[in-house]
Parts: sequence; structure tokens; C-alpha cells
Amino acid sequence: MYVMMNIEKCTGCEECLSSCPFDAIEIREGKAFINENCQVCMACLSACPEGAISEIEKEEPVEFDIQKFKGVWVFAEQREGKVASVAYELLGAGHRLADELTTELSAVLFGASESEAQELIRWGADKVYFSTDPVFEKFNDEPYSQLFIQLIRKHQPEIVLAGATPIGRSFIPRVAARLGTGLTADCTSLEIDRETRNLLQIRPAFGGNIMATILCPNKRPQMATVRPRVMKRGQYNEKRTGEIIPVNPDGISTRTKVVETVKEISDIFVNLQEADIIISGGRGLGNPQGFKLLEKLAGLLGGAVGSSRAAVDEGWISYSHQVGQTGKTVCPKIYFACGISGAVQHLVGMQSSDIIIAINKNPEAPIFNVATYGIVGDLYEIIPLFIKKIKELRGMGESGSG
Ligand SMILES: Cc1cc2nc3c(=O)[nH]c(=O)nc-3n(C[C@H](O)[C@H](O)[C@H](O)COP(=O)(O)OP(=O)(O)OC[C@H]3O[C@@H](n4cnc5c(N)ncnc54)[C@H](O)[C@@H]3O)c2cc1C
Repeated sequence: MYVMMNIEKCTGCEECLSSCPFDAIEIREGKAFINENCQVCMACLSACPEGAISEIEKEEPVEFDIQKFKGVWVFAEQREGKVASVAYELLGAGHRLADELTTELSAVLFGASESEAQELIRWGADKVYFSTDPVFEKFNDEPYSQLFIQLIRKHQPEIVLAGATPIGRSFIPRVAARLGTGLTADCTSLEIDRETRNLLQIRPAFGGNIMATILCPNKRPQMATVRPRVMKRGQYNEKRTGEIIPVNPDGISTRTKVVETVKEISDIFVNLQEADIIISGGRGLGNPQGFKLLEKLAGLLGGAVGSSRAAVDEGWISYSHQVGQTGKTVCPKIYFACGISGAVQHLVGMQSSDIIIAINKNPEAPIFNVATYGIVGDLYEIIPLFIKKIKELRGMGESGSG
């Protein structure tokens, strides 16, 4: 319940001011307004000679049966008509969740071709709701959220997953708010409580000092976003079949138009999230020149150079190389952690890598807890040995050629 002032009826006579014990009525430009001090004591209700003040019943939340919600959905974002890699990773996670719930896995794809929808089926989707309407070609919050909300209301999935990408971060919170349900951003792991069918949405909290498990027990769908490269892709099956369901964006209105999308230059040069091999350096490098040594190794292995936040904070390398909670999440085949201690905020950004090779002087460094191979020693002695050995194996002379 709350108190409402009908501005049309208010004459600005100020009769109501003295009725409020909390100074919650003020006059602005000749009209009375209720401000944030209002305690809903109702003392003002009879104070207005024009009857401009009234009490309003708050809209009771609509009761809904959470049992009716079935199915796991993945929002498959596309860029320039190509489904983004994060969508395939979410299908991998979604497939596992759907199996546990013995339900279907569906994908939602706007603004790409039918062959891209087929690709989603081959990566695990049973159904794809998709629209090729030109309004979806370039990402725009308004039409995307409107159609997505319509589809969710109609088909009532119990879980909705999306990428924690600039696109997902932009419109998924709006979708969750409109549906009156919860959303957990940047999950690092997703599990199912089979008894309640609740999604256990696990993510770092309190500056990465704890891993929190977040539930949305009374609302559906349960919505979560996951950063790229956190989940692994599932199995690709070229022969897999599924249903492609065209959807119509009828009745969708948009007040804005995306004129142009410009790529950030750092993303072009530091393609950390696409690299199969990453050589990362931390404060243990001791100076910015240390990154030159890492670049040498990266060059030989065809990898990219990453860093811890400490090295970025020292000014040794730019932020676009940072791996971790406030940097990029990566999942390469091989991740070298050189002079990185293994703080939890760094680990959440790289611990899904297939192989982790840690080089650290301190045998007690926490990075060794997640390392596949740990080398205790000085990185300035060990990395040149790596470089020498690779060159030997490739029959390269000291000049690097041959
Ligand atoms: C909210 C928040 C967000 C954060 N986000 C991130 C993030 O996104 N990414 C991130 O990385 N951090 C992040 N941090 C910071 C994080 O807590 C750590 O401070 C940081 O990761 C430490 O970086 P480091 O391992 O390079 O440095 P240190 O912890 O100082 O470790 C240096 C390591 O190098 C070793 N070493 C020293 N010399 C040598 C040598 N010659 N050879 C071999 N080993 C050597 C040392 O034994 C030590 O283990 C965040 C922190 C907070 C509070």
C-alpha cells in the first residue's frame, strides 16, 4: 500500500503540509508532492479539501505455479550473422542441466540465417526459436528484449542461460526485471538440485573471497549469465536433428536505431579469448621487460600474452591482457602462469584451461593447487630453457630461423 497525490486535482493550497508528521509532503512549482520520507501513516488522507490524496493498494504479485515451467533455454547471440562461441558453450552446459532435469534444451536465435540455427541443433539444441527479421541484425536492447520476453511468457522455460557479454549484460537484466524473476550474473558453475529442480548458480562474491551459491526458488524462469570460455562446449554431431521454429516479431516497437557498431581496437590485437595457448605473467616478472621474454615464448608457440592484475596495476602491460575476475575469462588448451601467485580472482578467469603450467619460486604458491604441471624455480631461468628446447626440437638455430 502507498499514498498517491493526484496532481491534476491539487490546487497547491498547502492545507495538507501540516497533516504530515514526517515532512513527507512538499510543494514544488505550485503542486504538492509526496517524497521519500513517507511512512504510509495515512494521516494526510483526509487533509486535502479537493480529495487529491488517496491510498493505493500495491499490485499483489501474480501467483504462478512454478511446476508449469519446463525446459532449459539458451539465448544464442550472433555477431554479423555468426553465432558467438559462448552460445555453443552454453549449449554444452544447458545440455547437462536438461539431462539432469529430463527436459528439452532449446535455443533462441535472432538475426541469423537458418544454417546457423541448424548449427545450434548439431551442438545440442532440441529446438531453435528463431527470427530472421532485419530488426535483429544489429543488436538493439528494445526489440531483443521484447521478443525474448514474449517467447518466455508463451513457452515458460524453467531455466534461461545467456552469455555475460556486452549483448547479454545489456538486455538480459531488462528481460529478468520485466518477468519479475531473478538473475545471477557471471556464474562460474551451474548445478541442479534434483529434489527441488532449483538451479544452483555459483559465482564469486565479496570481491572473490567466497564462492556463493545463489538460488531463485520461488520464481521462474531461473536466469543466469555466464562469461565466454567458462563452460566447455558439448559434443558436436553433424547428423543431429531438431525442430526449427520461426517466430514473428509482430507488435514490437522500437524507439532507437543502431546506426553502426565499431569494434574496440584492443580486441582486435589481443585476441586472448580465442588463443589456444596463453603465456601469462604476474608481479613475479619484476619489471615490464619480463613480458618481452613471455612474448618470445608466445611467438614460438603461436600463443597470446596474458597477465595478472598486479602486472597491469604496475603499468607493465595494458588492461586488455588481464585475466581474471575483473579481466578476461579464458579457456585455452595450455595456460602458462609465470610469476603469478594464484589469487582466487585470477583463478576464476583461467582455471578451466585444459593444461595449466605454473612457474613460481614459492613452492607454497596457491597456483600449484590448480596446476597440471608445477615448476618450482625462477622464471628467468626456466622460460629460456623452454625456448631453447623448442628451438632444438624444431631444428632452429639461435637466430630463430631454420
Ligand atoms: C575485486 C578484485 C578483483 C580482482 N580481479 C583480478 C583479476 O581480474 N585478475 C587478477 O589477476 N587479479 C585480480 N585481483 C587481484 C588479486 O587478488 C591478486 O592481487 C593478483 O592476482 C596478484 O597478482 P600476482 O599473482 O601477479 O602477484 P603476487 O600475488 O604478488 O604474486 C607474485 C608471484 O610471483 C612469484 N615470483 C616472484 N618472483 C619470481 C620469479 N623470479 N620466478 C618465479 N616466480 C616468482 C612469487 O612467489 C608470487 O607467488 C583482484 C582483486 C580484487 C580485490
